[in-house]
Amino acid sequence: MEKQKKIYVAGHRGMVGSAIVRKLKEEGFENILVSTSSEVDLRNQQQTADFFAKEKPDYVFLAAAKVGGIVANNTYRAEFLYDNLMIQSNVIHQAYVNGATKLMFLGSSCIYPKLAPQPLKEDYLLTGPLEETNEPYAIAKITGIKMCDAYRAQYGCNFISVMPTNLYGPNDNYDLQKSHVLPALLRKFHEAKLNGEPNVTVWGSGTPLREFLHADDLAEACFYLMQNYNEPGLVNIGVGEDISIKDLANLVKKITGYPGEIVWDTSKPDGTPRKLMDVTKLHSFGWKAKIGLEEGISRVYEDKFAEKVN
Ligand code: GDP
Repeated sequence: MEKQKKIYVAGHRGMVGSAIVRKLKEEGFENILVSTSSEVDLRNQQQTADFFAKEKPDYVFLAAAKVGGIVANNTYRAEFLYDNLMIQSNVIHQAYVNGATKLMFLGSSCIYPKLAPQPLKEDYLLTGPLEETNEPYAIAKITGIKMCDAYRAQYGCNFISVMPTNLYGPNDNYDLQKSHVLPALLRKFHEAKLNGEPNVTVWGSGTPLREFLHADDLAEACFYLMQNYNEPGLVNIGVGEDISIKDLANLVKKITGYPGEIVWDTSKPDGTPRKLMDVTKLHSFGWKAKIGLEEGISRVYEDKFAEKVN
């Protein structure tokens, strides 16, 4: 990826896209193309086609997506399917039509079957039923992987797919109904501390296991794979270690310095019992995550809530 090439980061306002833009700038790339949804609605075929025809990006990081936590995924089932299928189909197709050199499609660990063996290897894709709460999102993402492979097979496009594990970092979503667990816990514990509340309610049983990767680590991995990976199929991007929601809640309690109690709301869904990526393939390309969980969460907490801490 030469420095003068035009690199389109779709979804640059999101946690993933913004981390990729930061990484590209850090590496000295200046010809970075972005678009806001009010300028180009990537769900719209014509708008996306016009944008690509005009801009002709050389490289595309496809990080634009409708995303959300367990309740959002389950509530907006139609939107998660429609928005994601439209965005990714339009971008992948236009990258082909306009002769992009390479495209990276970003998926998610929820593409794997609910009861797949752990850790999740890339070849467990489509070996069993999906987890019900995020099935629409997963189906859209699986379609994206298959589209990249189909465009490679039929048209010779160098389109690759990467599957990040659960992410956290700057520009995350802190809406308590729609966010993922980590930003939700940071906000809940922080506000409970400020307001002197005696307890914090955490969803589910606390037993599910999740893996968390800092968005800056993800961006570094994406940058690395954009230059070093040119094959069909998918590559997991994770740390290879997981933590129970109970231990995570205790870690966030410690980092935020909240002195009260944790109460479990078991009326909320647990979701998949465990979601841990097998990162053997990623490590075989010579890349490993660097930011430890406690350090990463502390960084995010300071960035996001520092002004309110003192
Ligand atoms: P998932 O990885 O797709 O299941 O999505 P989430 O990050 O939303 O949830 C992960 C786990 O954290 C689930 O078992 C949730 O029930 C649990 N959890 C505990 N408290 C919260 C919370 O306040 N918000 C969210 N989103 N999840 C929570």
